[in-house]
Amino acid sequence: MKRVVFTLVGLIVCSLGQAQASAQDLKGCKRCDQQGVVPCKQHDAELREHEGHVLFCSVIAACPDCGGSLWVDCDRCDGGPKSAEVEARRAEIAAWAAADPMAEYLKRSVPRVETTHFELIIDTGTLKEGKKKVDGHILMHRVAEDVEEVARLVDQHYGLGEAKAREASRGGLAGMAPDSGESGGAEPGGSDAGGPVANPSAGATPVSDLQPGYFGKMRMWIWNNPDDHRTVMRDFLHSGASGDFKMLGKDPIFSVWTEGQFKTVPAVRMLFAHNASHMLVSNLYKELWVGDLTGGWFDAGLGHWYEYELFGLSLNACIEEANVLKQYHGGQWRAALRKDLGPDASYVLPKLLPMNTGAMTLEEQALCFSFYDWLVHEHVDLVPAILRGLKRERPARELLMELLGKSLFAMEDDWRAWVQASYPVKDPKPKAWR
Ligand SMILES: [Zn+2]
Ligand SMILES: [Zn+2]
Ligand SMILES: [Zn+2]
Ligand SMILES: [Zn+2]
Repeated sequence: MKRVVFTLVGLIVCSLGQAQASAQDLKGCKRCDQQGVVPCKQHDAELREHEGHVLFCSVIAACPDCGGSLWVDCDRCDGGPKSAEVEARRAEIAAWAAADPMAEYLKRSVPRVETTHFELIIDTGTLKEGKKKVDGHILMHRVAEDVEEVARLVDQHYGLGEAKAREASRGGLAGMAPDSGESGGAEPGGSDAGGPVANPSAGATPVSDLQPGYFGKMRMWIWNNPDDHRTVMRDFLHSGASGDFKMLGKDPIFSVWTEGQFKTVPAVRMLFAHNASHMLVSNLYKELWVGDLTGGWFDAGLGHWYEYELFGLSLNACIEEANVLKQYHGGQWRAALRKDLGPDASYVLPKLLPMNTGAMTLEEQALCFSFYDWLVHEHVDLVPAILRGLKRERPARELLMELLGKSLFAMEDDWRAWVQASYPVKDPKPKAWR
């Protein structure tokens, strides 16, 4: 039996060798620029650029001409030096596209994309951006680029770099089946409250020390049909929540439908950027969300900060109810914070540090944003150590005093002096695209 296997392997290696040898000999022709392949005519330059920023996209994978590789075989020659590479890429895409448990589950295909840090499902269809209509496929790519930009900034602030960031195992979704029981981190039955829910099993993760990168990919979904949202909430997240919902720490998942305020391109992009940062940081070093431990101030601060950094304002509150209740200065906060943190205002850190993310008003979240703003601008070298300390559940006050080497009041004086020196008296006009 063994011999048969060896013989077979021998044959395969042999024929592969021959194929490679002949592929190397192929020279292409003038029409294909001596490549053996030409660009697929189905896709314009804008889309080709978008596709270059993701690992896989289900929409392009369905192209009957190129199989998502963006290249078709030259019809004037037998191939060229690029032919084998394109062939391999097509096979890789086909294998990725075939593993789609969500499509099997919903009995229809859903637009999805995979990037270095995320697996997104953007099932919105066409949405509006001002007066313009934006195709759902293009929106999916814009969101993918936004959340990867958030990941790039998080990498920068937490000293990750490409080499350190663990290449997360493929198929987080593929490995997850509805009702497997494995995925259930959210509360069963559950509230309608939405908002962040930490995975209760996260704290039990047997981590002797903290690892340098992420544990997996962040899964983020938006549905046009509220029934789809409800169904995946029930069967994948074991929750009855009907609003937007996220599971943080271990196997982070975010699901939402295009309800009310999430019906436009900017709203979806900002919502995803905001929540991407919560998810990434909750999965970094240790699968643990610190928002209801000792790091509510840190969690709220960073959620707003990355959204603000990308879009020049923050319109998403860290709890859903706050969103409904009020806005804080139209999402542009720096000028308002400069006033609120003026010399006559009393100290705020002693009150903010012990609070959980979900217990804060939007004004308190804005103060946390500003404190995080100060940390990443003035003490970015300490940011990784702060998160590590919070993941070890150290009290925030003690941790900060140790790392910054000063009392809480002295720290707040420094932060507020920086706010007075660097925040504008009047915020710039928001971008027109909203
Ligand atoms: Zn050719
Ligand atoms: Zn695409
Ligand atoms: Zn094509
Ligand atoms: Zn938030």
